[in-house]
Amino acid sequence: KDVNLIRNICIIAHIDHGKTTLVDRILELTKSVDPRQMHEQFLDQMDIERERGITIKAQPVKILYQYKEKEYEINIIDTPGHVDFSYEVSRSMAACEGAILLVDASQGVEAQTVAHTYLAIENDLDLVAAVNKIDLPNANVDETCNEIIDLIGIDSSDILKVSAKTGQGVENILNAIIEKVKPPKGDVKKPLKALIFDAKYDKYRGVIVYVRIFDGSVKKGDEILVMSTGDKYEVIETGIFTPLMKPTEELGPGEVGYIIAGIKEVGHAKVGDTITNAAFPSDSPLPGYKEIKPMVYASMFSGLPEYYEELKKSLEKLKLNDWALFFEPTHSPALGFGFRCGFLGLLHMDIVRERLEREYEIAVILTAPNVEYKILLSNGNEMFVNDPAKFPDEDEIQKIYEPFVKLSIITPSDYVGDIFTNLQNERRANLLHTENAGKNRVIMYFKVPLAEIITDFFDRLKAISHGYASMDYEFLGYEESDVVKISILINKEPVDALSTIVHKSKAYIVAKKLVDKLSELIPRHQFEIPIQAKAYGRIIARADIKALRKDVLAKCYGGDVTRKMKLLEKQKEGKKKLREIGQVSIPQEAFLAVLRID
Ligand code: GDP
Repeated sequence: KDVNLIRNICIIAHIDHGKTTLVDRILELTKSVDPRQMHEQFLDQMDIERERGITIKAQPVKILYQYKEKEYEINIIDTPGHVDFSYEVSRSMAACEGAILLVDASQGVEAQTVAHTYLAIENDLDLVAAVNKIDLPNANVDETCNEIIDLIGIDSSDILKVSAKTGQGVENILNAIIEKVKPPKGDVKKPLKALIFDAKYDKYRGVIVYVRIFDGSVKKGDEILVMSTGDKYEVIETGIFTPLMKPTEELGPGEVGYIIAGIKEVGHAKVGDTITNAAFPSDSPLPGYKEIKPMVYASMFSGLPEYYEELKKSLEKLKLNDWALFFEPTHSPALGFGFRCGFLGLLHMDIVRERLEREYEIAVILTAPNVEYKILLSNGNEMFVNDPAKFPDEDEIQKIYEPFVKLSIITPSDYVGDIFTNLQNERRANLLHTENAGKNRVIMYFKVPLAEIITDFFDRLKAISHGYASMDYEFLGYEESDVVKISILINKEPVDALSTIVHKSKAYIVAKKLVDKLSELIPRHQFEIPIQAKAYGRIIARADIKALRKDVLAKCYGGDVTRKMKLLEKQKEGKKKLREIGQVSIPQEAFLAVLRID
């Protein structure tokens, strides 16, 4: 096969800018697939993704295109459209030589598009820029072109103007792909090097690994080696995506396809890893493989003990298909047995929760998410802690480090002030710099602790900007930070499950909020219950729940004072007893409300 006739591309587009529609038009135009088949294929995706308009990833597709008397093979690889999955985006790009940059003319360039475009440039991809939806009456083609020019500095004559809906200009995109995107390189005689850019779990066939072949070839019967783990498997089938999976004799350099080899779960063939031939192995893997760690942690409970096993089984099943999901058993005095889970981000967390509810019909209780802290202990050891309940004691801690991210926001200029104020004053953010994106829009870059943007920031940003601003972030690293653990004591007893980690600047406010909320939610008992928040080795906030008071005086009509006093004494005795033997019963909602406090 002649690699000069292959083009591998991905599409960079913000959600709703028309990626799916464009691919549909391309498939039609090249008569690549029976439209009915195609529909079935696309409908196959998870319901949740469709409903939320957040396709994590669609099937890759190979099309054939006639250009100047030659037949070209174009592979279109999908990239996830959400910031949680940026590592997968970078690996999808690593499987390509080019990218279509598609921007909705009525919306303009969005933050994620900018981030992905820079990622494409870093990956040395050749770009084909196109403004979409030019048929719309409110299309702002010139302004959108200006934004693209600001972004990648190309000539305006190089920006294609298309309507994925009507098909206008779509052929020009295909021509530009052939002309501007370099063909893949590769040597069939070298040992196999195949990049895993995606993997799906199939109930009947095990893991289907999506690969891009760089060197060598792979066919049925070969023994392959997953380079990061050293695990070996025998290839059962190789094939391509039309977009339906279609078996082929073999896969060679430059090609995009799949390998089935009896791999049991996607965690054994992770995105970014390299597959080689076990008998004739490559000496080095492809660059860029990273062990991806969860960024956001929360505990998950089934509510009722009867459902614990079911929740466990469901999580295990989900994990077969979700290599980034992490979980381990945990126990909370209030919520029972559950799991401490790690996610790539908030959306990933939501997706897992929704899939549990829909596919496995298990309602779960999720605690408020938090990040993972790095702690330097007094004895010189280092540890990572993602569960506030497991934080070491203050006197064992030398330093605490927390994860920071580079946050980018694109917004109409009008909202720059409010966004700045929110981030700088409330979220410990530092403005790094700003850039213009076209005439009326600005890109703002901040350095901010991840913890500050994982709860309500996205909603706030949308509210501040009336829905117009968009955001993206990338992990920068760990930095020393003045965070402190707030422990809660109920009736003088520490309750680990209610601990929380906050920055010094917010310790008193959060502590006050916590004790107030708890005092509202815990019902009165026969005795008074102090609720205390402790940090820095002392109590920093307190609220009391007054004791239930039997109306002992009601009978007395104010008459006999000594009798009144006696009764009060008696009641006091009773109270003491209760306190001695008594235990505070805290309703589950109280725990949840507190664990979800913002
Ligand atoms: P994706 O999220 O990027 O895959 O976006 P879709 O392809 O699903 O498109 C989002 C919406 O925009 C759909 O309602 C499409 O019908 C519409 N759309 C896509 N391209 C065009 C276009 O060129 N013109 C118009 N008017 N609508 C379009």
